[in-house]
Amino acid sequence: MSEYDYLVIGGGSGGVATARRAAEYGARVLLIEGGRLGGTCVNVGCVPKKVMWYAGGIAQTLADAPGYGFTVGQTSFDWATLKHSRDAYIDRLNGIYANMLEKAGVSLVRGFARFVDGRTVEVNGQHYSAEHIVIATGGRPSVPEIPGAVLGITSDGFFTLDHLPARVAVVGGGYIAVELAGVLNALGSKVTMLVRGEQLLRPFDAMVREELMRQMKDDGVNILTSTQARSVKRTQSGALRVECDQLDLEVDTLIWAIGREANTDRLDLANAGITAEAGGVIVTDPFQNTSTSGIYAIGDITGRAELTPVAIAAGRKLAARLFKGEADARLDYDNIPTVTFSHPPIGTIGLTEDEARKQHETVRVYTTRFTGMYNAMTEHKPKTAMKLVCAGAEERVVGCHIIGEGADEMLQGFAVAIKMGATKADFDSTVAIHPTSAEELVTMR
Ligand code: FAD
Ligand code: NDP
Repeated sequence: MSEYDYLVIGGGSGGVATARRAAEYGARVLLIEGGRLGGTCVNVGCVPKKVMWYAGGIAQTLADAPGYGFTVGQTSFDWATLKHSRDAYIDRLNGIYANMLEKAGVSLVRGFARFVDGRTVEVNGQHYSAEHIVIATGGRPSVPEIPGAVLGITSDGFFTLDHLPARVAVVGGGYIAVELAGVLNALGSKVTMLVRGEQLLRPFDAMVREELMRQMKDDGVNILTSTQARSVKRTQSGALRVECDQLDLEVDTLIWAIGREANTDRLDLANAGITAEAGGVIVTDPFQNTSTSGIYAIGDITGRAELTPVAIAAGRKLAARLFKGEADARLDYDNIPTVTFSHPPIGTIGLTEDEARKQHETVRVYTTRFTGMYNAMTEHKPKTAMKLVCAGAEERVVGCHIIGEGADEMLQGFAVAIKMGATKADFDSTVAIHPTSAEELVTMR
């Protein structure tokens, strides 16, 4: 039996962050990782996804170039070359993570952990115990229980594809679906989205949802709403036939992007007295405490705001509370900014207009929609749209929603202002930066 102050189960965004901080504060820390260091974000999430998003952007830039007077000769795109560079980049990041842990003095064990009791876990037959244990085991993509579902792939499989598929069906209308559909479409696949509801990105503000749908359709994505895949079959030619209620679709690759389930199944949670909720989610209080004293959970496993910076921030706060004496340290889950790397990207923070109208008596909304200057010269004319949702007599900005070129980089600074409680008058009193799209956010009337 090896004794530590802090056992961290899972070496993804949250686990690595909390382990490093705890070690910095003097704790003896053991991190246990069953897969690749860096977890979902580094290996099959944010990082390889953003590389692909950039590739899609370059394809669009090449198409835009004649508008700026360039004659672009014959271009070609080699998926395998990009995949090779992307994989090599991720290998380097895996190594950097291992070094960071070593430098921080965090011990590392490779293998999957399971609870023996509320203070002890077992990995590869070895027992490890600590006064504090944090579960940071993240999640994995869901696959529906319909006939032939295994013939499809998920976002994990997308990152192992060795060629650009000619015809793709993407099932789902959430973050992953719009991001992967956008990349594949930009790189030249014929993409059909199968969306069970009426809208993409259902929890988002209606303005950005509708604008994204319009733009993706204009860009050639076939979006079928109110459509559910019922079964999948392999045809004689090796293609996939996706059978839906009103139509059948033949594609080369089918991607399930229908949400994620928590990685709790290997943990033997009952041995620690913890019960997981539907989908394997572990419920915590605002301080990341589970129902068992001394056991905490952070990141995707808690089913709240499944984003890398959220897992990192929750993990750092927990380390400060347990090992730095900051008894009140906890993450504030309000006003978390988020971006979808769709084509075009969306940046959003705070309440949607609908949510604000339910929560506040007085709501005033400012919107704008325009063609950004970059597209004045190009044949491709995506729109930029922005909405500020303001509440109360003082018009505090409680929501900001942006779709369009640069939205991804634009939001972070505005998020600081909104988190600080900025009002519309504060926005108005800030001098604009010209010529940018962002200036519209401080000049709306
Ligand atoms: P993870 O990063 O999933 O790490 C969990 C780790 O635990 C894994 O390495 C796993 O192997 C390990 N593990 C599991 N069970 C055990 C066990 N029993 N014992 C030991 N180890 C175990 N978020 C953003 O903020 N921006 C983005 O652009 C973005 N893009 C995304 C794109 C995709 C395609 C996906 C799938 C996700 C994306 N996310 C993005 C979400 C982000 O990746 C997650 O929110 C984040 O990785 C969660 O971190 P985590 O520490 O909770 O879990
Ligand atoms: P989301 O929750 O974003 O979207 C799931 C989608 O699948 C929804 O459109 C949902 O429809 C649909 N769906 C659910 N079940 C079914 C089903 N049985 N059949 C058909 N459709 C179904 O999940 P994702 O998997 O896209 O992403 C998981 C999380 O990862 C995100 O919520 C986000 O937190 C994070 N992420 C963040 C990114 C970023 O920051 N840029 C990028 C990628 C992921 P409905 O709306 O009707 O429920």
